[in-house]
Amino acid sequence: MMRLRRLRVVVAVLAVAGLLVSLLSSNSGAQSEYLGGVGMPYDAFERLPKTELQVGGGIVQVAFAPGRVDLPTETVLGWVKRSAEAVTVYYGRFPIKKVKLLIVPVGGKGVQGGTTWGYRGGAIRMKLGSDATEADLLRDWVMVHEMVHLALPDLIDRFSWLSEGLAVYVEPIARVQAGHLSAPDVWWSLMRGMPNGMPRGDDGGLDNTSSWGRTYWGGAIFCLIADLEIRKRTNNKFGLQDAMRGVLAAGGNHEVRSWSIEKVLKTADAATGVDVMMRLYEKMGPQSMDPDLPGIWQKLGLSVRDGRIEIDETAPWASLRSSVMKTPTL
Ligand SMILES: [Zn+2]
Repeated sequence: MMRLRRLRVVVAVLAVAGLLVSLLSSNSGAQSEYLGGVGMPYDAFERLPKTELQVGGGIVQVAFAPGRVDLPTETVLGWVKRSAEAVTVYYGRFPIKKVKLLIVPVGGKGVQGGTTWGYRGGAIRMKLGSDATEADLLRDWVMVHEMVHLALPDLIDRFSWLSEGLAVYVEPIARVQAGHLSAPDVWWSLMRGMPNGMPRGDDGGLDNTSSWGRTYWGGAIFCLIADLEIRKRTNNKFGLQDAMRGVLAAGGNHEVRSWSIEKVLKTADAATGVDVMMRLYEKMGPQSMDPDLPGIWQKLGLSVRDGRIEIDETAPWASLRSSVMKTPTL
């Protein structure tokens, strides 16, 4: 008796919830179902029609939330595919078997931000301006950035600097390797961006500082130093790219939540045979370290004159610099 009554209450609640959902989706508030809340709207995604793109041995399942997008669907799908191909070139394969990609049309221009999750299967939500143009999609970096997140275990917030730093550092390099950007342009953008990641005031190291600059660009500085150090220690045979491919090969993708940062870094180090990432983490993670960015640019042979980047092929680390942007042959 009691059980039956409880069941009726549940049914009534579900009916009201269903009514609310249909009310929301019947007016301009439709996006709230796809943009509200803190997580990926997995259930809402499942109700939408999907297109499957096969890239790098993986599947990108694309669905559009209701709303206006002026661009043809083919153009939007082309952007997704091109981005997935860049990530595939960097990692040697698409990072996970299947990712759910929800494109949510929002007002305005361009690509307006993305978020990646892994807790119920790899998923990305991308906000796309209704007035976005093809040129916006051709120069977009957000889609590649989010897809790079798929290639690292889901770490706790304290270590966001590693996932964001990798995304900031790997995204433009992947696009160079895929032929979408030029290496000098990317070096110049790294030279402009990285000063944002320098420690300031009473910085407590990357683990203990959650500012935007330290999280995104501080993490990217960690990646650059690790990349160069691995190359120096292995006679330029391996780099960060090989290290991160090793993490993926060991099963460390974004659907994995149980890995510690130590496990990630030790797995990365095992792939290159040198303990660079773990050692660098000890210096830059729990405590603050002041990296010598101008010294690094100089050794790499990079300088800026009259608003243009100049490259010195006789610089001591010139061969490391060109290897960073090259796809490994193995
Ligand atoms: Zn990110």
